[in-house]
Amino acid sequence: MRFDEMELQAPILRAVEEMGFEEMTPIQAGAIPIVMEGRDIIGQAQTGTGKTAAFGIPLLQLIDPKDHALQALVLCPTRELAIQVAEEIRKLAKFMHSVKVLPIYGGQDISKQIRSLKGGVQIVIGTPGRVMDHMRRHTLKTDTVRMITLDEADEMLNMGFREDIETILEELPEERQTLLFSATMPKPILDITKQYQKDAEFVKVIKKELTVPKIEQYYYEVRPKNKLEVLCRLLDMYDPKLSLVFCNTKRQVDELVSALQLRGYFAEGLHGDLKQVQRDRVMETFRNGKTDILVATDVAARGIDVDDIEAVFNYDVPQDEEYYVHRIGRTGRAGRTGRAFSLVIGKELYKLRDIMRYCKAKIQLQPIPSLNDVTAIKAEKILDRISNVIAEENLTDMIRLLEDRINNEEFTSLEVAAAFLKLEMGGGDEISEQDKGMEFGDTGAEAGMVRLFINLGKKQKVRPGDILGAIAGETGMPGKLIGSIDMYDKYTFVEVPREYAAEVINVMKNAKIKGKSINVEPANANRG
Ligand code: ADP
Ligand code: MG
Repeated sequence: MRFDEMELQAPILRAVEEMGFEEMTPIQAGAIPIVMEGRDIIGQAQTGTGKTAAFGIPLLQLIDPKDHALQALVLCPTRELAIQVAEEIRKLAKFMHSVKVLPIYGGQDISKQIRSLKGGVQIVIGTPGRVMDHMRRHTLKTDTVRMITLDEADEMLNMGFREDIETILEELPEERQTLLFSATMPKPILDITKQYQKDAEFVKVIKKELTVPKIEQYYYEVRPKNKLEVLCRLLDMYDPKLSLVFCNTKRQVDELVSALQLRGYFAEGLHGDLKQVQRDRVMETFRNGKTDILVATDVAARGIDVDDIEAVFNYDVPQDEEYYVHRIGRTGRAGRTGRAFSLVIGKELYKLRDIMRYCKAKIQLQPIPSLNDVTAIKAEKILDRISNVIAEENLTDMIRLLEDRINNEEFTSLEVAAAFLKLEMGGGDEISEQDKGMEFGDTGAEAGMVRLFINLGKKQKVRPGDILGAIAGETGMPGKLIGSIDMYDKYTFVEVPREYAAEVINVMKNAKIKGKSINVEPANANRG
């Protein structure tokens, strides 16, 4: 169904057009007409199905722009979502003059919010705690509210907002429309709908549409103690630009993030215990590519709108079948191909079978990649690039450069190609270092140097001089050969000449800095 098939005001249609929406999503087609009739609604559809516009469009349709009193209230679980929803509604209201939309959330200066509210705002998008706060201060007058929307209701309950939501609902005028949207419908949500909605229509996007066919889905049977290693191999092998790793608990998120960081991966965690500022910071580093692995719980990842996630990892098999669909739906968006990997321990295989049945997914068993596989895949990627170059670029000059040597039988062309491949795979001395049990790929260091990762930082009251002193003292290497030292709160990167790197790692393994045992490893390729 197209938007212009519905009796929407011209400015709204124009905005929808400008946003590039062609067709309504199923939840929009189901919800918009009902809300426009003035009825209450329960809308259930998974993340990324356009729920914001499903309530945002009829909300704008029903608002009176000439009336400057507060008319609509939207509750969202987090600051980030409140801002996202406010932005989407502002876009939809772009051509409606004098409609004011304001997000209010904890963590932002309340006096600023009070000033904005005094300016006359018709639509407030807020987190429950902060909305209640303003209601108590009488800086948010709710007696003129005609519509309330609970967005991501399941997540709000998961985050413990039930009482706040009920308090807010109690205070609102009886004569109002109550809309509720949620990805899942656990019983506490149905309780709220029974108590606070009138004759609500239930609109549910059928499960069949949950399947995400474009995505390749694999699973690996692993032992608990190998989980981390298997995850790392998959990360190395597929080298996804952005990946999302799901765990079932906050604790697992924290543990996995530390373990990945210790191995030099640029990973950050996201879960409900993080303060809003921390959440914002993590999301910012993920969006701008400083973090390429985001480890999250289901709840924390909900509603995050990042488009180019190449791989989703189920470090833990999800507890709920629907979660599996939500998780893997994060990749393969906007026509891109995506991959989903699940690590399965023992009896979890039954859970995975349920998932396959439920979402008619084909999740294929794969053998755990060996280190050789990792190397083979890396080579394959490089060879793919090479075949593009051969197909698309003019190589005459390059051939001329090589011709003489090959004609003189200095090398065979196969040897030249193999040597290039080796260089491209990370360091010409890879084999000898591998023999020593060490492998330095591209560690992100300057030419001739290897960037090392040390698990000590400012938080441990260590200074760059301590690191320099320890390395020089333990190895006998002149201090001036040591390159840049970048110190962070919990870890430090230090560059040492390639020929010293293996020795530094070996010697420092048993050394202490300021009385603390340390872990030294090559930093990971392309991750810093
Ligand atoms: P949800 O709240 O269900 O997780 P959102 O409302 O955040 O989903 O929408 C996800 C994305 O889809 C947003 O970028 C939004 O602009 C876009 N979108 C919404 N409706 C449509 C539509 N009808 N056609 C194309 N894109 C849409
Ligand atoms: Mg949403």
